Amino acid sequence: MKGEGKYLVILGAGESGVGTAILGKKQGWKVFVSDYGQIASEYKDELNQYEIAWEEGKHSLDLVQDADIVVKSPGIPDKVAVVKQFLNRNIPVISEIEFAGYYNTAKTVCITGSNGKTTTTMLTYHTFQKAGLNVGLAGNVGKSFAKQVAEENFDWYILELSSFQLDGMFDFKADIAILLNITPDHLDRYEYDMQNYVNSKFRIIQNQGQNDFFIYNADDEVITSNLEKIKTEVNSLPFSLRKIIENGGYANEKQLTLTINKDPFIMSIHDLALKGKHNVQNSLASGIASRLVEIRKEVVRDSFTDFQNVEHRLEFVAKVHGISFINDSKATNVNSTWFALESMDAPTVWIVGGVDKGNDYSELLDLVKDKVKAIICLGTDNQKIKDTFNGVVETIVEAGSAMEAVSYGYRLAKKDETVLLSPACASFDLFENYEDRGNQFKSAVRAL
Ligand code: ADP
Repeated sequence: MKGEGKYLVILGAGESGVGTAILGKKQGWKVFVSDYGQIASEYKDELNQYEIAWEEGKHSLDLVQDADIVVKSPGIPDKVAVVKQFLNRNIPVISEIEFAGYYNTAKTVCITGSNGKTTTTMLTYHTFQKAGLNVGLAGNVGKSFAKQVAEENFDWYILELSSFQLDGMFDFKADIAILLNITPDHLDRYEYDMQNYVNSKFRIIQNQGQNDFFIYNADDEVITSNLEKIKTEVNSLPFSLRKIIENGGYANEKQLTLTINKDPFIMSIHDLALKGKHNVQNSLASGIASRLVEIRKEVVRDSFTDFQNVEHRLEFVAKVHGISFINDSKATNVNSTWFALESMDAPTVWIVGGVDKGNDYSELLDLVKDKVKAIICLGTDNQKIKDTFNGVVETIVEAGSAMEAVSYGYRLAKKDETVLLSPACASFDLFENYEDRGNQFKSAVRAL
């Protein structure tokens, strides 16, 4: 699908938008990039270097409205006026991944889910690299997929896909798709209708056929009940922590088993670098993909043993006077915090709070009763947290900064106990983003 002078309009000049522009230009499209905000200077330089036209601070209708195709940054919702006028006129509005898919010839492993995408993507990339495969990394992580399709020559891509990216995907087909879990998140973008969000996640298997593979979490009832309603010829490879799976993977408290190509792979849970039940699920999903492409068992084992977890995900920070500090700032919803608390094996002082996307904290009550000795609220509005856990946890205090939260944590925890930052909320009330929150937490711990 060459552009041949057709008009490609790109909304949003971030990593994905600029990458799309470069690929579009190479493929003969007439390209224009429009950003309502200010474009970062490195991206402006890049656009200029490739002689691609752009504007910032506005979307000029007279410049964009004649588009033949529109690639929209995943951050821009459909309800924005400029997008609506394209949709009303049936002009295709797609995502960077869809556009890059028109030209990509490499095979893809595509990973989605409400939680665990980045971890599973990085682990899979690590294993493929270790196996010596010529593999690229893209999607929500790393460099733009479109730009790499324009300039690299990989045989494989590991792609992390958010629901917003999936929403703009129509003809794209994954060779291997992974669906980790579906729990409520981002409902504000889905008219507060869970089914809309579920449908978006299931786009990961659209267009897949009998030569493709679908790896999914068989313990997730939202996934299994929706899968029953879908007609597909794809090869299904489930994984489970509850039952034995003959073609896929499963794990119990002691070991993880992959049953791919009738050649079982068994590994002790204790040898996994990634800790916690959620990470056993991530490892199962990733391991199935690796074994599907016939990566040797020793390589999978080595990769699972030496993988370094991604920053801000249950990241061990330091032990100070016998108190362990753990940074799980990326836990921005209740489900991810559930798994963090579940993996705690010492009495825990829990730092929680921020901007709540419609949380139901009662799902955490049993775990909190069992594991949490004190709560430190780290947000501007902590009422819901206090209401839920009052009477369940004796000590609940409020902190206005990471520094204050850490100093409370240090006072409230004793030797051999843990202070866990796992906020279950977004960070925008007190911090720039989750990385900033995690970094401030870590600096405060190191300053103790
Ligand atoms: P995503 O890219 O989907 O946001 P991450 O790998 O960045 O996922 O992890 C986000 C948060 O969710 C972290 O707090 C992490 O510990 C937790 N998490 C990771 N994997 C899972 C999983 N399979 N289920 C639930 N929570 C998970």
